[in-house]
Amino acid sequence: MAAFKKKTIRDVDVRGRRILVRVDFNVPLKNGKVEDDTRIQAALPTIQYLVREGAAVILCSHLGRPKGQRLPELSLRPVAERLSRLSGIPVTFVEDCIGPEIKEAARKMGFSEVLLLENTRFHPEETKNDPNFAAELASLAEIYVNDAFGAAHRAHASSEGVAHYLPAVAGFLMEKELTFLGRALSDLEHPFVAILGGAKVSDKIGVVKSLLDRADTLLMGGGMANTFLAAQGLNMGESLVEEDAIEVASEILKQAGDNLVLPIDATIADAFSDDAHQQIVPITAVPDGWRILDIGPETVEKFSGFLKEARLVVWNGPMGVFEFDSFAKGTHAIAQAIADSDAVSIIGGGDSAAAISKTGLVDQIDHISTGGGASLEFLEGKELPGVAVLEDK
Ligand code: ADP
Ligand code: MG
Repeated sequence: MAAFKKKTIRDVDVRGRRILVRVDFNVPLKNGKVEDDTRIQAALPTIQYLVREGAAVILCSHLGRPKGQRLPELSLRPVAERLSRLSGIPVTFVEDCIGPEIKEAARKMGFSEVLLLENTRFHPEETKNDPNFAAELASLAEIYVNDAFGAAHRAHASSEGVAHYLPAVAGFLMEKELTFLGRALSDLEHPFVAILGGAKVSDKIGVVKSLLDRADTLLMGGGMANTFLAAQGLNMGESLVEEDAIEVASEILKQAGDNLVLPIDATIADAFSDDAHQQIVPITAVPDGWRILDIGPETVEKFSGFLKEARLVVWNGPMGVFEFDSFAKGTHAIAQAIADSDAVSIIGGGDSAAAISKTGLVDQIDHISTGGGASLEFLEGKELPGVAVLEDK
């Protein structure tokens, strides 16, 4: 496995230091409560380590898209409560992330204590990566830790800018994400089988090309497969097809040859709804007026055959409209096939992570990325700005 090349919190002396930790607490809230705390849980190893080692831990994060406005419904306050409950560590919440009062709170806090700053995006300077704002954040601490993999593809003040003013290292979640996802780019484990699905090809052209270069087989399902099937001249009826992407799909098909495997049958529906009439048809026989909402059983069997032989599996994008229970079978069957295989399994993508958490198979997957957009950009082979600024080992 490729070694992790960035310094981590293990490589710096944190005892008796103030540490600014960028975490990804961009969690779904409902009625002022945290609805899903996966991302908070994922940040615990870093926070607990720093507390144990006697650092003063100052946490910052964005939440949602307040566009530089102070929106009470996007306050991180509920996260402080949940974090405290999950970690067993008292967490002090402060109502801003910069300014004299915050500086004072950071200066007065004790070691092994935890402070959570308010949503960084309440300031428009955050997403503009304003250097003065970044320097203000940096002035709270002596060391910067980036543990927010999910925000690492954005060059914002708290994820990138601040690293120009402080020694900057990775947290444990960042290290874990990059180490697992890095296996997909390392060319060390074969057969490497990639599975791609989801709605739009145009979002994922870069990922398709990158994975085709590296994987032994790329299995494709979901809405994006329709555009490739249309490029082969098949009738897709009312299915989601991106006309603008048919040309690039044809080119990819030509280059990929047998390495790209498309569905051979489909579950089709007469309407885009959970209770639509449905039938299973060969992929060559989609009638007018019907649309593909899931892969069919023969496709599941074919894909599962590849997964069985795999040593490394990377999955992004559901195989169908899994939000409708009637069209979630293909996605669930593929999740099961991945869980059953001996391969190292890595899942990236927000909807894919949601799909797997519905199945109860979470424990059988080696790594489920906390970063949707970040994991895709990483798999494309792009350098993530929030990682690039961290110190090399
Ligand atoms: P991820 O977030 O894991 O990267 P995407 O956002 O690319 O995944 O795609 C997820 C969406 O794709 C889901 O909302 C799902 O309903 C949709 N989808 C999957 N298959 C189809 C299909 N055949 N037709 C229309 N939409 C589809
Ligand atoms: Mg998505």
